[in-house]
Amino acid sequence: MAKLLLALLVAAASATAAAQGVRPAAVLYEGARLFTGDGSAPIERSAFLVENGRFTRMGRQGDVPAPVGAARVDLTGKTVIPALIDAHSHIGYMKNLTSGPQNYTRENILDHMRRFAYFGVAASQAMGSDFGELPFQLREELRAGKDPDAARFLTAGRGLAPLEEISPGNMRHAAYVVTTVEGARADVQELAQRKVPLIKMWVDTRGGTIKTLTPDLYGAILDEAHKQGMRVAVHATAPGDAKNLLRAGIDVFGHMISDVDDELLALFKQHPNTAILLALSAPRRIVSAPWLNPPHPLIRDTVSPAQIKRLQDRLAAQTPEEAAQARQAWDRLARGVRLLAAAGVKIGVGTDGGGQTGDQFVGWTMHAELENMVAAGMTPAQVLVAATRNSAEILGLADLGTVAPGKSADFVVLDANPLDDITNTRRISKVVLRGYEVDRGRLRAGWATGASSN
Ligand SMILES: [Zn+2]
Repeated sequence: MAKLLLALLVAAASATAAAQGVRPAAVLYEGARLFTGDGSAPIERSAFLVENGRFTRMGRQGDVPAPVGAARVDLTGKTVIPALIDAHSHIGYMKNLTSGPQNYTRENILDHMRRFAYFGVAASQAMGSDFGELPFQLREELRAGKDPDAARFLTAGRGLAPLEEISPGNMRHAAYVVTTVEGARADVQELAQRKVPLIKMWVDTRGGTIKTLTPDLYGAILDEAHKQGMRVAVHATAPGDAKNLLRAGIDVFGHMISDVDDELLALFKQHPNTAILLALSAPRRIVSAPWLNPPHPLIRDTVSPAQIKRLQDRLAAQTPEEAAQARQAWDRLARGVRLLAAAGVKIGVGTDGGGQTGDQFVGWTMHAELENMVAAGMTPAQVLVAATRNSAEILGLADLGTVAPGKSADFVVLDANPLDDITNTRRISKVVLRGYEVDRGRLRAGWATGASSN
C-alpha cells in the first residue's frame, strides 16, 4: 500500500513537473495505436518509453518495462505518429498581411517556429531565403531546445540564383547572384563554412521569361557542394531542366515537376538517392481548399481574420477559364505524383509555406499538404512516411523521423487515426518535442490576444 501511494505521489509529481516544462526522467506512454514512421503496420495498444527526452523502448502494452518512478501517460484510444517535418519552407517573411525581409526578425522567426510546433512539426527547413547571422544563431539555439515550444529551425543559408530571379522585395533578395563558375564555387565554400548540410539553388526560366542558371553554373555548384560533403536542393519544375539536373547529380527537388514521362522515371531509377518534395499547396488550393470555407478551427485559432479573408477573396476571384486551367495543371501534377510514388522515388514533404505574399498560413500548410498528397493519389501511409522518416532522411536529421530507440522523443498524439483519413492529422491532442509537451494552450492564447499577430 505504501509502495502504491509512493508510486502515485511520484507520478503526480512527474505530471506536475511536465506541466511546468520540467521534463520527468522517464515516461511510459501506454495504450495508443503507434505509427512508428518506418513504413511498418501500426502497433495497436502500444507502449513506448521516453527517457531523458529520447525514445528508449517500444512494443505492445504490457511488454515494455518501466523503470521505478517512471511517470505513466494513458493514451488509450489515441494514435501516435512521429512529429512531422517540413523540408521546404520560407521562414520569417510573413507577418499578418505583409511579407518581406522587413519582417525577418528574431521575434518573427521564433513565432513561426512556435506555429510549426503547435501544428506538430518538429523541424522546418528554410530553403534559401535566410540572410545575416540570425539564422545560424537560431539554428543552434533551437537545436539545443532553448525554447521548448518551438520547432527546430533549419537553414540552407543564402540560396544561389541567377540575377533575374532577384528583386529587393522578394525572398530571393537573400540569394547569392551566380554569374561565373569561380564565383559559384566561392559561394558554396562560404556556405560550407557555415556548416549548411543542404543548400538551395533556383533553375527556372519562369515560363521562358528569364535567363536561368546554365548547366555549367549549376554543375559547378553541385560539384563544389559534393566536394564539401554538402547536398543540393533545387527549385526546378520544367521536365527538361529536371532531366538535366538528374544527370548532373542533383540531390533534392524542392517542387513537383510539371510533367512526368518515362525518360524522367528512368533517370530517377538511375539516381535512387535523389529525392523530391512535392510542394503542392499552390497548385492545389486554387483547385480545392475544403479547409477554407468555413476556415478549419485550427486556422481560426492561429490566423487573423483579415488574412483568412484575403485568401478566400483571392480564390473566389478566379475566372472559370483560370479555374479550368488550374484543374488541368493539377490533374497533370497528380498523375506525375502517382507515377513517382509507384516507381519508388523517395518523396518527402515540403510545404513551401511562408514563401509567397500573403496567403499561406505558417504551420497549417503542413496539414493542407498532407491532404494534397492524398488527393494526388498517394495513400495516407505513404504520405505519413514521407512527412516523417523520408523528410528526416532528406534533411540529414538522424535523430528525428521515426519512433525508434535513441531518437529524440518528438511525436504527435492524435484523437483519430490518420490512416483512415489523412485529415485526422489535424485532430491534435498533444505535441511532444524533445520529451516536453508543447504548451499549445499558451501559444493559442497568445495568438488570440494578438501578442504576436501573424
Ligand atoms: Zn520555396
